[in-house]
Amino acid sequence: MAIDLHIHSNHSDGRLTPRQLVAKAARLGLKAIAVADHDTCSGAREAARYAKQFKIRVIPAVEVSAIHQSKVIHILGYFVNTRSRALVAKLDALRRDRISRAVKIIKRVNVLAKKRGRPAVDPKEFLEWAGKKEMIMRGDLAWFLFHKGFGKSPNDVFLNWLESTNIPVRGLSVREAIRAIHGAGGVAVLAHPNSASLGLRRFSQRIRDHQAIIAAFARYGLDGLEVKTPRTAKSVAAYYRKVADRLKIIPTAGSDFHGPHIPGARVLGAARAPDATYDELKKRSERYARDAR
Ligand SMILES: [Zn+2]
Ligand SMILES: [Zn+2]
Repeated sequence: MAIDLHIHSNHSDGRLTPRQLVAKAARLGLKAIAVADHDTCSGAREAARYAKQFKIRVIPAVEVSAIHQSKVIHILGYFVNTRSRALVAKLDALRRDRISRAVKIIKRVNVLAKKRGRPAVDPKEFLEWAGKKEMIMRGDLAWFLFHKGFGKSPNDVFLNWLESTNIPVRGLSVREAIRAIHGAGGVAVLAHPNSASLGLRRFSQRIRDHQAIIAAFARYGLDGLEVKTPRTAKSVAAYYRKVADRLKIIPTAGSDFHGPHIPGARVLGAARAPDATYDELKKRSERYARDAR
């Protein structure tokens, strides 16, 4: 038995519904999962409804986007109160920002389209298309423009239309994200620390700097580190585990599953944490939940 602490539903950029995820995880024999959608608790809220039916524990979770040195990094929140007014209001504000950013990017794309002799796209049409999603990101724009014939693939659209028209995403600082999670009674965990956004192009580069960054986050109150994902080499995972031990924060693991048949998508349950991690996270969250009350 094991747990997968990092799964996305269609409430953010995943493909499956919360119910489908819970059912799939139960079929795989997982003991617990965390549906941690980008900047929204609604996927987690919905997933919790199916926990009993499928005899699996569903950890209320969220993956908060934070800005660190003008790059986006992700902080996972576990055992958060998904109905916390303060947290939901902060996430709603982030979402509104994302929508206005998407509209601004489309306007820039239209300027470029005019130069390249292409008809403009209507931002309203995009918003309708993206309507059901809680969280609008550039990946959605790439898919939309791809369907509109702007490129051979969403990736092609990214390179030719979205790179030069980008507008930096606004968001919480890491410290604010950690505080928001604690304020909702949750535990804050740094997601996929080996992603390029922490400033490491290759793992071997500037390792000391990297450790220093995570140590700084720990001083802000970071509770855990996602040491293992399907894309983390064993030696790298071992290194992060050491960092977590040294900083006395909880090592976690998760697949970052976004759905089947998505290029680069990870497999549900492909990175698992032991059952004990569930208790460790829960225990730590109880302290914050008491303070939040
Ligand atoms: Zn992430
Ligand atoms: Zn994720």
